[in-house]
Amino acid sequence: MKSKFSKKAEKYTKVAFFSSLIIILFFYSLFRISKSRTFQFFGEIIARVETDKKIVALTFDDAPTVHSDEVLDILAEKGVVATFYVIGQNIEKYPEEARNIVEAGHELGNHSYSHQRFLLKPLSFVELEIERTNQLIREVGYEGEITFRPPYGKKLFVLPWYLFRYDIKTIMVDVEAETFMPKLESEEEKRDFAIDYTIEKTESGSIILLHPLCESCKPSRDAIEPIIDGLQAKEYQFVTVTELLENR
Ligand SMILES: [Zn+2]
Repeated sequence: MKSKFSKKAEKYTKVAFFSSLIIILFFYSLFRISKSRTFQFFGEIIARVETDKKIVALTFDDAPTVHSDEVLDILAEKGVVATFYVIGQNIEKYPEEARNIVEAGHELGNHSYSHQRFLLKPLSFVELEIERTNQLIREVGYEGEITFRPPYGKKLFVLPWYLFRYDIKTIMVDVEAETFMPKLESEEEKRDFAIDYTIEKTESGSIILLHPLCESCKPSRDAIEPIIDGLQAKEYQFVTVTELLENR
């Protein structure tokens, strides 16, 4: 027969076990929500648009860099518009490249000032990151609506609340080849994966993301032209993110 003491110990062990389980589940759910493309606690979050029209938005993150002009040349040659999510610090470093994007008629979106994760950051940090970058976006001549894409797709409470309060739309993505790229050796294989994946997964209303602007991002840069050709062959038209949103 169990003593009164061991019964009590057993009860406490059970309570401790289930409490820990609930706490772990709670934090795991928050972690999942922080990276969700379709749910956040406040305001609108858009990963794609429901539309019957064959329109898609091509988006590029972490702009501008020394490689932006190469991307602009490809877009100009193809007669296609895109949306560039810019980092405030990069605009300060490459203001000419930022102006070139605007002058070529593309859209600018806000991708924060310093490209840090926004999880567990105070409101003052969120305000500074977004407002400073919006100001820089205006200084390089962009006049349209500014949407926001969180760095690393991360957000939880404060960021969505701030964006909701200022009526700024959170733009995620539904076709992102780089995230699902297997371990590949050569640049050609990486480029080909990005091309095939993007053309296969894109549907009417898709928001496509590529990271073609860093030094080691050549496979994604080289994928842009074949992706445009492949999607145009399937009769898709390219629009900016805000144009896409008007077609909801
Ligand atoms: Zn980024």
